[in-house]
Amino acid sequence: VIRCGAAVAWAVGKPLSVEEVEVAPPKAGEVHVKIVATGICCTDEHLLEGCLPDADFPVIPGHEGAGIVKSVGEGVTSRGTQHGMCIIPGDKVIPLCLPQCGECSFCLNPKSNYCLKSHVSEPQNLLPDKTSQFTCKGKRIHHFLWVSTFAEYTGIPEYAVAKIDAAAPLDKVCLLGCEFSTGYGTAINTTKAPTCTVFGIGGVGLSVVMGCKAAAASRIIAVDINKDKFARAKVLGATDGISPWDFKKPIEEVVTEMTGYGVDDSFEVIGHADTMAAALASCNINTGICVMVGVPASGSAISIDPMLLLCGHTWKGTLLGGWKMRDFIPKLVSSYLEKKFNSDLLLTHTLPIAKVNEGFELLCAGK
Ligand code: NAD
Ligand code: ZN
Ligand code: ZN
Repeated sequence: VIRCGAAVAWAVGKPLSVEEVEVAPPKAGEVHVKIVATGICCTDEHLLEGCLPDADFPVIPGHEGAGIVKSVGEGVTSRGTQHGMCIIPGDKVIPLCLPQCGECSFCLNPKSNYCLKSHVSEPQNLLPDKTSQFTCKGKRIHHFLWVSTFAEYTGIPEYAVAKIDAAAPLDKVCLLGCEFSTGYGTAINTTKAPTCTVFGIGGVGLSVVMGCKAAAASRIIAVDINKDKFARAKVLGATDGISPWDFKKPIEEVVTEMTGYGVDDSFEVIGHADTMAAALASCNINTGICVMVGVPASGSAISIDPMLLLCGHTWKGTLLGGWKMRDFIPKLVSSYLEKKFNSDLLLTHTLPIAKVNEGFELLCAGK
């Protein structure tokens, strides 16, 4: 049993509290990772606000980390040999908030990046065997998306970690654990066309902008109510920045007028029902593709004009940018090392875990 620090969320709406927790040794099929760095993604904020379905408290949040394997449980080495990724102590890894067992029908389908043996299929903030490795002050603490990267040491199923290049700087590539990979992947796996709109220019939205640029989009319209975001978006490839608050007419009409018949691809990267409907209405009525990336609050509903879809529109969503995470995260890390993209441009602040609440304040203040 390891005693270490972790940022614990005891209840919805309460600040995180940095505590000493106990982490049980890895059981069969599990690995223990020493987390070196973690990002804060808005999905962590949704968890703290109580907006995610079936979230149990107390919980250790965080799902965008990078670390070093400390120990492995029984069977990890033999399964790794079978699946071509042998995890051993000392390896640098990125925990995967979307696992890839490599055996279920979804994992075996080359078009899918979903895994039937995941926390998404069976919402739960415990490990697959319904246990938790964490205790604090005698209480069981839940895992988050099986990875809980706000803990110094965390226990994860072997098929929810990806081994990465030993040269990777963990304080930089942690962003590939969620936000960068989601945004960049959503764009490059979708965009084949010249004009795009990105609603919401946070960490994920900026990564969508980078992906649209990489996919050679010639016009990338960034939409955000926080105009301070536009300077960075333009450095990363946005050609226009517009705020819905500057117009009397709906933003979808503004985008349509700017582009003639609407953009080819639009991306919603906020998680609100109204901006999802606006993103759909902003793209070309016949050939447009709208992708939902933002996570809506549980129980939300969207009302749309069905004619939009009848006319040919494609409307879809994405989990983690469509990547099969275990296969592609190591490749993305190699691309980062080869300087094929610069995800470091997303970094705004670096804080010690003791200041984790300050990190959330900065996120919520749009900084
Ligand atoms: P963020 O808070 O950094 O960015 C959100 C941006 O949206 C901010 O810039 C904010 O000013 C802007 N915004 C808010 N309301 C707006 C409105 N009405 N109109 C225009 N702009 C508005 O968040 P993030 O970390 O970039 O995450 C964005 C969303 O993506 C979240 O909902 C998160 O949960 C989700 N997400 C989804 C996946 C996935 O796999 N689908 C992965 C990661 C994150
Ligand atoms: Zn995330
Ligand atoms: Zn699977």
